[in-house]
Amino acid sequence: MNISQLLRRSALLCPERPALLHGARVLHDYRQLAARVAALARHLREPLGVRPGDRVAIYGANAPAYLQAQHAIHWCGAAAVPVNYKLHPRELAYVLQDSGARVVCASPELEGAAREAGADPARLLVLGSSAWEAAAQGAPLPLHDAAPEDLAWLFYTSGTTGRPKGVMLTQRNLLAMTMAYFTDVDEVDARDAMVYAAPMSHGAGLYNYVHLLRGARHVVPESGGFDPAELAALARSVGRLSLFAAPTMVHRLVAHLQQAGQGGEGFKTIVYGGGPMYVDDLRRAIDVMGQKFVQIYGQGESPMTITALAREHLVEREHPRWQERIASVGVAHACVQVRVVDGQDQDLPVGEMGEVIVRGETVMAGYWNNPEASRETLRGGWLHTGDVGSLDADGFLTLRDRSKDVIISGGSNIYPREVEEVLLLHPRVSEAAVVGRRDADWGEIVVAFLVADGAPVPDGELDALCLAHIARFKRPKVYRWVRSLPKNAYGKVLKTELRQSLKESPAP
Ligand code: AMP
Repeated sequence: MNISQLLRRSALLCPERPALLHGARVLHDYRQLAARVAALARHLREPLGVRPGDRVAIYGANAPAYLQAQHAIHWCGAAAVPVNYKLHPRELAYVLQDSGARVVCASPELEGAAREAGADPARLLVLGSSAWEAAAQGAPLPLHDAAPEDLAWLFYTSGTTGRPKGVMLTQRNLLAMTMAYFTDVDEVDARDAMVYAAPMSHGAGLYNYVHLLRGARHVVPESGGFDPAELAALARSVGRLSLFAAPTMVHRLVAHLQQAGQGGEGFKTIVYGGGPMYVDDLRRAIDVMGQKFVQIYGQGESPMTITALAREHLVEREHPRWQERIASVGVAHACVQVRVVDGQDQDLPVGEMGEVIVRGETVMAGYWNNPEASRETLRGGWLHTGDVGSLDADGFLTLRDRSKDVIISGGSNIYPREVEEVLLLHPRVSEAAVVGRRDADWGEIVVAFLVADGAPVPDGELDALCLAHIARFKRPKVYRWVRSLPKNAYGKVLKTELRQSLKESPAP
């Protein structure tokens, strides 16, 4: 089945329901949206020559045309290659060349960069341009009848580790991911609205299918991105807003609402994930916005769908293990199996840390043009996530870190997240990232990069805080105050850059 069947279905079932909004303004209802998508698909087919199985890149910031491009690509049977719009043209060139994209759909402001990256001007379609509008008014192409194993989405991993690889997601993967939202994340109905505050090239964009299926509204903020004040205003005017947000976005939204004396009115569900959410932040978020949060843990290779921490688990404060549970990423989605294993892929006992592996309908088909990496990552039929975690007796998974982020000091493993959680308890520490630095005596020592809320905190005070909460050997030996932490487009802290900066300026 072609995933764009969900759009056609809603266009038949509820043609007049508002489908696509720019800010609070309705642009198209479901009938119009499907007609535009089918016409754009025709344009991709002829004159641009896109055949089923071809790849088409989308290099764009969030915009109403993004959703149309995504579905036009599906509709004609091609695979979408969503490219992070913050990539440098050189990085884009790599993705275009590796994927063999036949056409590039680029935002107007990125047209130059796309050309610089080698996109053929004759096959460059500018999102929302007059040519785009003309194409959207054309004759429709019938929906291509895709097979479940056909490639639908070729997603280049965000590259916090090494060179990006193209994750091959099939039609079946996308459909399973969509259904998994209803089983483990949230129910959705036609009155709801999904707001794209995080990049549509990543998880937020993938959630469009869920809302399409229910004939709900898709809202693209006018800013094209994440602006807490804009989001709060949209919640009031549009209502029943759901969104996917990286933990840093939740942190900023909650701070804004708190400052403005507002709560969670107008928001329905905030799905957070993509990186660790610190317990202190989460507690405050629930206090300010209420019972609106659901956590997901996923990765490009099993998109949005490995575990989920449900609303009821997040707010069940009287549960004896509530503290542990809210620091976890929840339980395996109903459609996947999750295990924690040792180096030989043997199950580890409850509480022991090892690599998280996953099997199920959402797990990718493999890496594009990279059979070796595919074999390695999918060995034994299980996706090896590279994440380190442990399961409790009830099946709740707690992630520690990426295996490569673990610090080994004096032979002991130190999980940075644990140290970060403690440092963040200090009211004047607003962000913390802990990495290892090579050391002749210890192998590695712990270094904490900190962002202050006000004046930096003296080392002694932080030492005392750590000693009160964690083992002495885990305490940072060096504290470095920085204005901000380096992050990728999805808000993930780039620990590789922090480690690099330590190599370049090792003192003190
Ligand atoms: P990506 O493939 O870019 O989406 O990155 C996926 C990685 O982000 C995972 O392998 C985890 O290391 C991390 N991640 C995703 N969700 C969570 C979460 N809820 N808590 C902690 N880390 C997460």
